[in-house]
Amino acid sequence: MSKHFLLRHLPALLVASLLLNDISSVQAQNKPGKKWFKGNLHTHSLWSDGDQYPEIIVEWYKTNGYNFLALSDHNTLQDGARWTSADANKSGAEGLKGYIKRFGTNWVEQRTTGGTNEVRLKTYPEFRGLFEEKEKFLVLLAEELTDRHLASPIHMNVSNIREVIKPQGGTSVLDVIQNNVNAVSEQRVRTGQPMILHLNHPNFGWGVTAEDMLPVKGERFFEVYNGHPGVRNEGDATHAGTERIWDILLTKRLAELHLEPVFGLGTDDGHNYHQFQPKKSNPGRGWVMVHATDLSAKSLISAMEAGDFYGTSGVTLKKVERGPKTYSIQIEPEAGVTYTTQFIGTRKGFDPKSEPIASASGTPLRVTHRYSKDIGVVLAEVKGNSAQYKLKGDEIYVRAKVISSKLKANGPIDGELERAWTQPLVP
Ligand SMILES: [Zn+2]
Ligand SMILES: [Zn+2]
Repeated sequence: MSKHFLLRHLPALLVASLLLNDISSVQAQNKPGKKWFKGNLHTHSLWSDGDQYPEIIVEWYKTNGYNFLALSDHNTLQDGARWTSADANKSGAEGLKGYIKRFGTNWVEQRTTGGTNEVRLKTYPEFRGLFEEKEKFLVLLAEELTDRHLASPIHMNVSNIREVIKPQGGTSVLDVIQNNVNAVSEQRVRTGQPMILHLNHPNFGWGVTAEDMLPVKGERFFEVYNGHPGVRNEGDATHAGTERIWDILLTKRLAELHLEPVFGLGTDDGHNYHQFQPKKSNPGRGWVMVHATDLSAKSLISAMEAGDFYGTSGVTLKKVERGPKTYSIQIEPEAGVTYTTQFIGTRKGFDPKSEPIASASGTPLRVTHRYSKDIGVVLAEVKGNSAQYKLKGDEIYVRAKVISSKLKANGPIDGELERAWTQPLVP
């Protein structure tokens, strides 16, 4: 290990070792004094390519039952002076009318420059105070670090960030992810502010494969469900879906690479706030429920780092208990809806072989390899409003997925059912 390596990786290694200590001690959930908080950690506004003013978006979330929201625009924070064309920005003239109607001309700032009517976008320090309420609603500053390698888009959200981070680039997809993870770790260690990075929509532009993510140090979170209609959570005949990627990551990282587990989030990735229809990227599709002691960035992040949260596209859980010998789920049932819980994991002694997938002409494709069926097995399936799995002792990890009989309203995929994904128990 060279001095150069140490200098470059020390922040990530420090954070990783701190976090590893956390997870082993805190896998059991539902400790007394904890509450569930509903939040979305992936949102776009007019500060990048979203089509609405941030205040309208934040208010939508607050009035729709959320407790926290991270505004995560591409490679920018909502800070500094930013004027946009009143008619030609993505919200358009109608959007401006609605904005003025709701917030009034005393709040909305306009000017005319060279014959163009402009509106100033309010900054995070300005608008958060309109909505934040102790223990009820919190707005987090975030950034979608929007990077790439050759043709592969690589996007990572950083929640509760303090200073903007430039995409770090790199010599491969893996290198790009690691460099950005390291930059976040560096900022976290230097400022002492808790912040988390999660890898976004791996299948967007087929950008990130399981092999790209496997060896990344300090990468703890990814989106198992993203509500944008263009991100292909389910994969296709050639490309692994996000759940398959998750099982490969968990199995290989835990059993072979001795790295920390990766946890799965649900998010919206909302860009469109005017028309609600399946092919638009609307809010309200994917979110996380975090079981934390209070509604602060520090508590939410510490709960997420302990795996005390789940991702969902509609199913609500009352209770999640991970271990040490039993994994239990209690669902908050809805009338007329039935639930199936699958406990998914990989057993010791699994077949570790994998092979690249090739095109019809035999060229290996840059896609997640094909792994054995031993990886990510359904260990048990339980119907009803509660489910329990007793560990047999040979599991490398166990996670749970709850599938509802209820069709997801305004879901981006036809026939999509509401689901929830809880975090792996690592015995
Ligand atoms: Zn993205
Ligand atoms: Zn996004």
